[in-house]
Amino acid sequence: MTKFIFITGGVVSSLGKGIVSSSIASLLSLSNYKVRVRKLDPYLNIDPGTMNPSQHGEVFVTDDGAETDMDLGHYERFTGIISKKNDNITTGKIYEEVLKKERRGDYLGSTVQVIPHVTNEIKKFIKKDLKNEDFVICEIGGTVGDIESLPFLEAIRQLRNELGKNQTLFIHLTLVPFLTSANEFKTKPTQHSVKELLGLGIQPDLLLCRAEKKFDKKEKSKISLFCNTSLDSVILVENAITIYEIPLMLYNQGLLKQLLNHFEIKNKRTLNLRPWEDFLKKISQLKSKVKVAIVGKYTNLSESYKSLNEALFHSGIFNNTKVEIKWVDSKKIEDLKKCEKELNNCNGILVPGGFGKDGTLGKINAIKISKKNSIPYLGICFGMQLAILESISNLKGYEKASSTEFGKTSLPVISMIHEWKKNKKIFIHDKNNLGGSMRLGSYTAILKKKSKAHSIYKKNKISERHRHRYEVNYNYKKQIEKSGVVLSGMSPDGNLVEIIERNDHPWFLGVQFHPELKSTPFNPHPIFNSFINALLENSFK
Ligand code: GLN
Repeated sequence: MTKFIFITGGVVSSLGKGIVSSSIASLLSLSNYKVRVRKLDPYLNIDPGTMNPSQHGEVFVTDDGAETDMDLGHYERFTGIISKKNDNITTGKIYEEVLKKERRGDYLGSTVQVIPHVTNEIKKFIKKDLKNEDFVICEIGGTVGDIESLPFLEAIRQLRNELGKNQTLFIHLTLVPFLTSANEFKTKPTQHSVKELLGLGIQPDLLLCRAEKKFDKKEKSKISLFCNTSLDSVILVENAITIYEIPLMLYNQGLLKQLLNHFEIKNKRTLNLRPWEDFLKKISQLKSKVKVAIVGKYTNLSESYKSLNEALFHSGIFNNTKVEIKWVDSKKIEDLKKCEKELNNCNGILVPGGFGKDGTLGKINAIKISKKNSIPYLGICFGMQLAILESISNLKGYEKASSTEFGKTSLPVISMIHEWKKNKKIFIHDKNNLGGSMRLGSYTAILKKKSKAHSIYKKNKISERHRHRYEVNYNYKKQIEKSGVVLSGMSPDGNLVEIIERNDHPWFLGVQFHPELKSTPFNPHPIFNSFINALLENSFK
């Protein structure tokens, strides 16, 4: 029977609930249990697709085309388990469901209420689309005490009541701050948070305590006494050099044992911790260092490019190299000379995904410098589209080549499919028609033999995740190629450009998809592996 593990957070946000959930999932899946990890988000948006990444972090796209919370990225990276649309729910989606049913008359005249109608919908989601999973881990977004989280907490309380202790486990992640002035750890915030949970009918079974440094038995005993948990159930999550230390940190304190004991699982399966041990060993023995400039608009928050950060890190480890990232605000390099100065001490340049005309000049400048000085270049999604525009605009008559994303143009080299199919001379960007027009999720691409892309993937056919509205306009194929761009990956029907490269450059690649979404520590992505290798070669020059 499937067992449900619920993870809540207390005291403050940003304690790393996503990492803790992923780490627990990793320990279970490395023990050969079938695991599913889900996120329940209390906000009212239907999904995070429309949210500004500098406020909410990256939007993670699943294979089946859902725009989800960035925590799903952690789940995939830590476990290798592919997330699905049904693994992320928001209050918005729950209400949408409830209201649809109300309009259809499904509630047979009853007054529609948070309890039981909304909570029933949440419970249904938690149990939805399962196939013999041993464990389902549900991370509840937000912090206990938030008004928005209440229906979710009520739903999991009801589930404990329905399924019993043997099938449900409550884990609470809380903060134990160290007060320098008093020279001691303070357990009161944790006590209050647990009290708040108790008020909602939830007694945590395991307490994970985030602290800046190690605390000892004294604090553990105090927490255990006041929070009504056994001493062994109080587990310390201290600051780590890398998030990838957390699975072992939890394991070493007996978390897995506690968890399996709680569920009264007698025949414990063998856990293989080797992958983490090897990975952490590699991290501690890096031999070289490279510096990559990421030229983007949301550079104020590295969370906006979480998967990218991680993918570069994974491939760095793969190449025994520390990857230093220099975040460059594209608006600050609109002067070409300044741009060259800013980028010249970097071993590689990366223009990641992005939206809108704002800041594109600096990104185009970065591409020019990479070409001029033979600096390895990786363009992801928007970074590929801009590389094409930069290239074609060097042809006579194509100086004004543009994307319809930027407004009216007579040279729509990048545009929406329905726009270039109309085959009109003037293309107008329809601002009122953006919803539902994205290409989302996994799509297949066919690679050109003997291309760089082919040598990187070592296969003819690949599948990668997309999240974009505009495409390379096939009507300009000839001119694009004439400008020095090789179209090395195409959609199976040959109409959509998936990968580009340049033969007149040591390492220049643009991809319409997001390879960073598929990189994991144990399976770093071949494109980033090759990119970091090119950076290394560039650093020896
Ligand atoms: N803005 C571009 C588009 O919508 C690129 C999107 C992206 O980089 N993810 O096509």
